[in-house]
Amino acid sequence: KAKESGRNAYRFFNEHMNTDGRRRLQLQNGLRLAIEREELSVHYQPQIDLASGAITGAEALLRWTSREFGEIGPNIFIPLAEQSGLIHAIGEWVLLAACHQAELWRQHYPPGLTVAVNLSAQQFRRGDPVALIKRALAASGLPGELLELEITESMLISEADEVLGMLQRLKALGVRLAIDDFGTGYSSLSYLQRFPIDKLKIDQSFVRHIARNNDDAAIVDTIVQLGRILKLTTIAEGVEELQHASFLRAAGCNEAQGYLFGKPMPAAQFAELLARGDATTAADDSPSQSS
Ligand code: C2E
Ligand code: MG
Ligand code: MG
Ligand code: MG
Repeated sequence: KAKESGRNAYRFFNEHMNTDGRRRLQLQNGLRLAIEREELSVHYQPQIDLASGAITGAEALLRWTSREFGEIGPNIFIPLAEQSGLIHAIGEWVLLAACHQAELWRQHYPPGLTVAVNLSAQQFRRGDPVALIKRALAASGLPGELLELEITESMLISEADEVLGMLQRLKALGVRLAIDDFGTGYSSLSYLQRFPIDKLKIDQSFVRHIARNNDDAAIVDTIVQLGRILKLTTIAEGVEELQHASFLRAAGCNEAQGYLFGKPMPAAQFAELLARGDATTAADDSPSQSS
């Protein structure tokens, strides 16, 4: 499947889209109308503290149910939105929805639940992310401390000085910064000291085989140690099996996210999960019923 890893998704996108430019245009036109037609929605995937089993928050993941094309995955439509400039409107829409949602959690559930929102490189290069985040926090009432922004390694390489200034101003708003898909980007790690990063999200392509593949296990171990030394929180994505969670807990990884604890789900279903506390049980080595 295309979403299996960032690397595969990229390859899939190229093959798929380059071979059919017409469909790409059709999808792009559909996407242009998606917001006003209310075809976009946000799903939430729980993030778990591995030591306690508690839900710490959720990642917001965009969904598009097109009346013409059916369900289109973000690995397809996010690149289209980036190419057409629609990412600015769509990115603001998802950010606002996620902040409103997290503000509701703050009022109804134990304090401290965070929401993580993915930011596209385009939103940095041709946008004003600081103004964007300020607007979303002001409109929702969410404290900056409860918002986490997921960015990718590649964003820290290009136009590094400009990006550094933006990230520092974002940090001044209280928000936390996470590196998504960590380990799949550039090999220079010096940026980890240079940029005000809070969290490393270990890419799911390393997590998938940690129980069977010594190389992947060593990579995950090393990233966790790196995080500990640099005082960064570590979270593993794509945690599907109990063995994954056990390995990660033993390695000292702080948090986990994956089908073992819950798939991305509508907000109402996530609220049920919070109320039941299922994920707590799952982290204690009994599988969650929700996935
Ligand atoms: P990501 O940010 O790395 O998100 C993680 C992806 O892994 C999600 O795919 C999630 O559904 C999937 N996943 C989570 N747990 C597991 C698991 O245990 N096993 C497997 N096999 N997969 C798992 P999804 O929702 O299809 O999103 C794909 C990518 O699209 C995201 O990767 C992100 O880069 C992008 N994306 C999604 N929503 C947004 C958004 O609102 N804005 C931007 N800019 N990008 C977004
Ligand atoms: Mg990814
Ligand atoms: Mg992400
Ligand atoms: Mg990721």
